Amino acid sequence: MPIGDFNNINSSGVLLSSSGFKRLEMAADGKSVHVGPSNHWADVYEFLEPHGKVVVGGRLGVVGIPGFVTGGGASFFSAEHGWASNNVKSYTVSFQRLKVEHEQY
Ligand SMILES: Cc1cc2nc3c(=O)[nH]c(=O)nc-3n(C[C@H](O)[C@H](O)[C@H](O)COP(=O)(O)OP(=O)(O)OC[C@H]3O[C@@H](n4cnc5c(N)ncnc54)[C@H](O)[C@@H]3O)c2cc1C
Repeated sequence: MPIGDFNNINSSGVLLSSSGFKRLEMAADGKSVHVGPSNHWADVYEFLEPHGKVVVGGRLGVVGIPGFVTGGGASFFSAEHGWASNNVKSYTVSFQRLKVEHEQY
């Protein structure tokens, strides 16, 4: 939905692409899944189906992971299990110190 000032639209900041982060891996105890931020919910459901499992995720497969979970995330399973964000065990967060220099000519 192209709404100015939402989701980095019209942003004057730096856009960091996380499109290469495709990790999908079941935890050793089979009770959680590691999901890289470039996946969409369809990728997660396809990965989990052979395991007979599902997560509190998006209602449409085209929706992305990070914006959905950081925004709360209303799922088909929310009435029973809460928001998607209530079901996140942990996040991996990268902090980057950027030094911006201005050169005047
Ligand atoms: C067709 C459709 C159906 C939808 N259905 C539902 C629904 O059923 N339930 C519901 O709750 N919502 C639903 N939504 C809304 C959806 O949750 C939001 O659009 C959400 O932002 C999508 O996640 P995204 O990762 O694609 O977000 P993006 O648009 O990529 O990003 C959203 C925000 O997250 C930040 N972000 C993105 N990636 C990262 C990252 N790797 N690290 C840190 N920050 C990041 C962005 O900077 C931005 O501020 C739907 C949206 C659409 C278009």
